[in-house]
Amino acid sequence: MTDPQIIWFRQDLRLADQAAVAAAARAGPVIAVYVLDDETPGNWRIGGAQRWWLHHSLAALAASLEAQGVPLVLRRGRAGTVIPELVRTSGAGAVHALWHYEPWARVQQAEVAAECELQLHDGNYLLPPGTVRTGSGGPFRIFTPFWRALQQHMPPPPPTPVPALTAAPVPDSDTLADWQLLPTRPDWSKGFNVWTPGEAGAHAALDAFAGKAAAYDRARNFPAEAGSSRLSPHLHFGEVSPGQVWHAVPDSDSYRREIAWRDFAAGLIDTFPDSHETPGRAQFVDFAHRDAPDELRAWQQGRTGYPIVDAGMRELWATGWMHNRVRMIAASFLVKHLLIDWRAGSRWFWDTLVDADLGNNSLGWQWIMGSGVDSSPFNRIFAPVTQSAKFDASAYIRKWVPELARVPEAAIHAPWEAGGARGYPPPLVDHAVARARALAAYAATRA
Ligand code: FAD
Repeated sequence: MTDPQIIWFRQDLRLADQAAVAAAARAGPVIAVYVLDDETPGNWRIGGAQRWWLHHSLAALAASLEAQGVPLVLRRGRAGTVIPELVRTSGAGAVHALWHYEPWARVQQAEVAAECELQLHDGNYLLPPGTVRTGSGGPFRIFTPFWRALQQHMPPPPPTPVPALTAAPVPDSDTLADWQLLPTRPDWSKGFNVWTPGEAGAHAALDAFAGKAAAYDRARNFPAEAGSSRLSPHLHFGEVSPGQVWHAVPDSDSYRREIAWRDFAAGLIDTFPDSHETPGRAQFVDFAHRDAPDELRAWQQGRTGYPIVDAGMRELWATGWMHNRVRMIAASFLVKHLLIDWRAGSRWFWDTLVDADLGNNSLGWQWIMGSGVDSSPFNRIFAPVTQSAKFDASAYIRKWVPELARVPEAAIHAPWEAGGARGYPPPLVDHAVARARALAAYAATRA
């Protein structure tokens, strides 16, 4: 009789093109497990929006496994304790999981491997972080040469299908509802019904996007158009593999390049494991951020008086997602116009984004701040009004900021210039004044 094999699901909640599932299926009857570990990540446990996503994604995964007669075992606690305990009580021969690169994921991997046979497989990235190196053998710090080197290893292997699974005797499981991942009082998730978490939902989103991928290069910058793929939460939770995405979207190099940013971000957190907390450039360690809780709250609530920023922040609150162009404008506004610490922004995103991802979020915020190892220069300060007009955000603003729905077209990007709109606040800061203040703060870091 072959020993049972544990499949330890993490941010890889799919059955197809999932090397841990395939390896376990080859080796024997399986026990499928997900551990809700709020302990190892400490302050970086998953946030509220992602708890909503996780609930639905686990329900979808459980249904797919159940179709093959395999229950999904749910356990809560420190993964480094829970998984070895399951191995002991089930007599499992090995644990199969995919590699993850967040600092706490590495701790989990080390703790589990110290106690039992852990077989780690690749598959969450186009290439495992660290595979491509610079000419001198170091990690890449700049995206463009990284992308050039990565392409030499492409295409990724053809995706593999869902394997046939045999169930091993099943240990006890928690009940998903008892984890209380969904918000109740208040239930802020009503607008999240734009999403269908789970492997089938991910493939539906991928299929829908593949048909319009050729237009991506232009359309992705316009927040009023549904020009990007909206695959980010599906990719974060591993409901679809980057290899599957690569092969499904053959006619858009610019899209594949964007997927590679995800690999680049994973490489950065692998090389610089504290990049979610520490600036990549030493000069920014003592940057004079302002402590302005009321302005931070105004930003979070979409009440800065800048329509494009407020539309983005309200889209985020309502749906758990924000358009990339608007993320850049809103993040730049927080760290440059308001001079508030980028970590306050990344924290807010961590709690409110359904796609919150340590690598992508840290890279995004440090890039905007100008403090990352691969960043735009600090003096690149997004001008919210110019950006809003250039990327034709009028319909987007009208959708998310109802106070401005009737404002004439000429005033939509800067309503204060036409006397303002009832119920909508005046700008928190003047653009030119804020820009000068930001540049002065930056100059002081170099003094
Ligand atoms: P598409 O344009 O369709 O791109 C396809 C995929 O490529 C995305 O799903 C994502 O996985 C990847 N990708 C695209 N752009 C980037 C990028 N700049 N960096 C890394 N990967 C990228 N993305 C996250 O997934 N999680 C985050 O927590 C996150 N935080 C961000 C914070 C800031 C301040 C900024 C400026 C960007 C952040 N991004 C983050 C990157 C980007 O905004 C989102 O990946 C994108 O908006 C998701 O929408 P999409 O799936 O339609 O993207």
